[in-house]
Amino acid sequence: MTNAASSPWAIPVAQVAQRPGQSKEIDGDFPAPSGIGDRIVGVNEGEPVHVSGSMDSIVDGLVFNAHISAPMHAECTRCLKPLSGPKELDLVAFFPYEYQHEGRDFKGDVEIVAGEEEAGDGNTYPLADSGNVADIEALLRDNLVEAMPLKVLCKPDCKGLCAQCGINLNEHPDHHHEIRDDRWDALAGLKARLEAQAEGTGKE
Ligand SMILES: [Zn+2]
Ligand SMILES: [Zn+2]
Repeated sequence: MTNAASSPWAIPVAQVAQRPGQSKEIDGDFPAPSGIGDRIVGVNEGEPVHVSGSMDSIVDGLVFNAHISAPMHAECTRCLKPLSGPKELDLVAFFPYEYQHEGRDFKGDVEIVAGEEEAGDGNTYPLADSGNVADIEALLRDNLVEAMPLKVLCKPDCKGLCAQCGINLNEHPDHHHEIRDDRWDALAGLKARLEAQAEGTGKE
């Protein structure tokens, strides 16, 4: 057992790696990585993220096709109603046997150039433990972070909360406040006095 293999996100792939045509079914829960969203919209670290799919071996790597279901917590940005529920997404990722990143191949083989286009693809990840382990921590984090909505509404026309008292305007559509501001009374009084003065001086 190496550190890579004991990671909670490790998927052992030794049976299928380097064997084109072989496929390994994935169906299980993985802990949510840290850093997905925030307190308003996100997935809490350690919550179970269900991953189902397959690792399919092709000539130059493993193709990971997966359906992800993550327990997302969220609240409406206007009325703060809790809107928790599963966030579902499908992803395809690639674990090349020869991984290149920023011009350096992790096996030190400088002749490999095919990895260059893969390095530019956001969903390409290196295999760990000499190619025996696919660690999906970074993959889950990247894909879930990207999937988090920037703005969540309980419904498209959510009326939000009353700015004065905070009451939910969806539940009280006729709610309003009689706004009476004494400052207008004071200004009206001043205006009347000024007008009276102007008339007085004009007639003089
Ligand atoms: Zn709302
Ligand atoms: Zn109000």
